[in-house]
Amino acid sequence: MSGKKKSVADIVSYCQEIFDDINFGYARKWKAAKPGRKVVGFLPVYVPLELIHAAGCLPLGIFGGGDQMEVIHGDAYYQSYICRIPRSTIELGVTNRLDVADGMLFPFVCDVIRNLSGMWKIMFPNVWTKFFDTPQNFDANIGGTYYQQELLELKEGLEQLTGRKISDADIQRSIKIYNENRKVVREVYAFRAKEPWKAPASEVYLMMRAGLLIDVEEHTQLMKDYMAAASAEDRPKRDNVRIAIFGSFCEQPPLNLIKSIEMAGCYVVEDDYALVNRFLTVDVPTSGDPLEALSTTYLKHSVETSCKYVPVEEDKGKFHIAAVKACGAEGVIYATPSFCDPALLDRPMVCGRLSEAGIPYISFKYAENSGQMQPIREQAGTFADSIKLWS
Ligand code: SF4
Repeated sequence: MSGKKKSVADIVSYCQEIFDDINFGYARKWKAAKPGRKVVGFLPVYVPLELIHAAGCLPLGIFGGGDQMEVIHGDAYYQSYICRIPRSTIELGVTNRLDVADGMLFPFVCDVIRNLSGMWKIMFPNVWTKFFDTPQNFDANIGGTYYQQELLELKEGLEQLTGRKISDADIQRSIKIYNENRKVVREVYAFRAKEPWKAPASEVYLMMRAGLLIDVEEHTQLMKDYMAAASAEDRPKRDNVRIAIFGSFCEQPPLNLIKSIEMAGCYVVEDDYALVNRFLTVDVPTSGDPLEALSTTYLKHSVETSCKYVPVEEDKGKFHIAAVKACGAEGVIYATPSFCDPALLDRPMVCGRLSEAGIPYISFKYAENSGQMQPIREQAGTFADSIKLWS
């Protein structure tokens, strides 16, 4: 975007354009601007973007094909009772839309994404493909040692891809840039929680999704510009209830679903959409061994979500309750992709804890290409009314 003062409408339309472009035009232009540049795609839910950035590559967030892409080939690779993100990601690959990616990272979320990494290796042998396995043990001597080794392997893989060494100073510089980005992301979320009528969920969502497709420093500036423009804009405050969304951390709902929840009378004041840039909840230290810093922050200060093991069963859902209280939500919508094992296995436990804490909730399933919004609007609208009348 050009340097002049931007309006909310300008920023949102820029983000929408990037979000809608399933040919990844921004990454193509970025790559063509300097010889030797590489793009590294990554799937949900978390990868250390700092390492990709320190290697001089553009991290590219791949969240399937959304609701704009017809899946023709992708269905042939999977059984019918499985979520949609792996099929539409395959579709992006076989239709050459992802040929901009020189590397692909498949982090641990569930078996589906793990198996997709193996398929990618076979289907696209010229692409550097890595399954990035985050720890499920949070003891520094066990999970921490393992994770630092995994980070080292990732660093070495990136060095082979780019043909240049990544120094500790390179990683520390990138950590600083991402610390600033995460700080501003947290500010956007706090701004929305305080005055949700000024920062609709659909706008914040578009800005966060675009942020995973563009240069990180451009994204940080974009969020600052958005907050400045949105604070100055006079938008009507509606009689909506404040809700938190959980369960939507991997395959994403269609944008219309996010809009429908708001149109039904809910202000979204917390969510776990596209968690990547909120996965670490504090700044990563910028001194000492940077891999150890990334590892320790992951072990001690990352969000709780269904792809992370919670060692003590009684602790399950405590994170969600704390998040609801912190943002002042009056209820929870547990919205999760159809056939999403991790989220659907967690649902009874997390929702049980919400019940015990007296927090009202509803739940429903979606797919990234869900088209019928009327039932969602009715369910969310009835939920909002019931909170207004009886909570
Ligand atoms: S939507 Fe759920 S089941 Fe599907 S890949 Fe993501 S975490 Fe796995």
